[in-house]
Amino acid sequence: MKIIVTGGAGFIGNHLIERLLDRGDSVICIDNFFTGQKKNIERFLDNQNFSLLEHDIVQPLKGVEADQIYNLACPASPIHYQYNPIKTIKTSTIGMINMLGLAKKCGARILQASTSEVYGDPHVHPQVESYWGNVNPIGIRSCYDEGKRVAETLCMDYHRAHNLDIRIIRIFNTYGPNMHPQDGRVVSNFIVEALAGKPITIYGDGSQTRSFCYVDDLVSGIIAMMDQDGFIGPVNLGNPVEFSMKELADLIIALTGTASEVTYMPLPQDDPKQRQPDISLAKEKLNWEPTIDIEMGLKKTIEYFKSV
Ligand code: NAD
Ligand code: UDP
Repeated sequence: MKIIVTGGAGFIGNHLIERLLDRGDSVICIDNFFTGQKKNIERFLDNQNFSLLEHDIVQPLKGVEADQIYNLACPASPIHYQYNPIKTIKTSTIGMINMLGLAKKCGARILQASTSEVYGDPHVHPQVESYWGNVNPIGIRSCYDEGKRVAETLCMDYHRAHNLDIRIIRIFNTYGPNMHPQDGRVVSNFIVEALAGKPITIYGDGSQTRSFCYVDDLVSGIIAMMDQDGFIGPVNLGNPVEFSMKELADLIIALTGTASEVTYMPLPQDDPKQRQPDISLAKEKLNWEPTIDIEMGLKKTIEYFKSV
């Protein structure tokens, strides 16, 4: 198959491209390199089934065709999506419309990488797909959360209006090798601090929870969703094992053997208190569930950060 991956030079994108190339697909990576890195895709450059298009999805795209489009383009870390919030919204709205238009033109199936952030600071726990969420529309996270919610709406409207073949996945916190050391997300921050022997910075009192999925598990779920017929989603993809940030810090301290202490900083505005995916739907429809536990995943990730 001929497959477009937008955001392919990013953290999840490069793992996805590797899996698609390995099974023999031909892949066009589209990226504007805002948070993506050339080094993430360098290993594909000699592969004749791989091509790179440096392009911003906010601009219309012509002259490319595909059977499938994975739309991953969007900064995912709070520091990056808040850096230029208007650009973040444009990416999830104008960029989404451009990619839906492209899918319509070439008759491609399109998968949108949505997020657990559509649930905001959730009152339903664990989060089920039928929950509409608790999102602040005017806060500093809104450019990302509301942008992704509009992107889901656009997918559904193109589906209803044009019978477009869509898939929507809601990704929960994912980690693993090839995260950018300065990405700003909690797993990379804690590991980089632990390996440098610097204090581990917890925002707030560390009681807020997240559920962390290893990237290889996530990529299996993403491809399973794209390749099945008849279920458009949205579907939660994540690891349901929930940790507080204090527990995560303690685990990373133990696994790295660092002498780092824990230090506390103010909690950012609208930081969700809890997050855990209900993955019953993914189990039922995709026969998917994560297989890599947090200790194994963190060990692989720590090895990666040691090597860079
Ligand atoms: P990332 O920041 O590493 O990758 C995003 C990629 O998109 C980068 O390569 C970036 O350069 C590119 N990009 C951004 N804006 C673009 C634009 N306008 N045009 C073209 N390319 C653009 O993030 P990631 O963790 O790999 O996330 C990938 C996708 O998955 C994102 O859509 C994100 O919202 C979603 N997601 C990720 C997580 C997670 O925990 N990693 C959780 C929920 C959702
Ligand atoms: N966090 C933290 N220290 C850091 C980075 C993040 O304590 O150095 C906290 C953050 O406040 C949040 C959780 O860890 O409660 C997850 O943050 P991340 O940015 O990784 O993802 P998100 O908030 O989008 O789930």
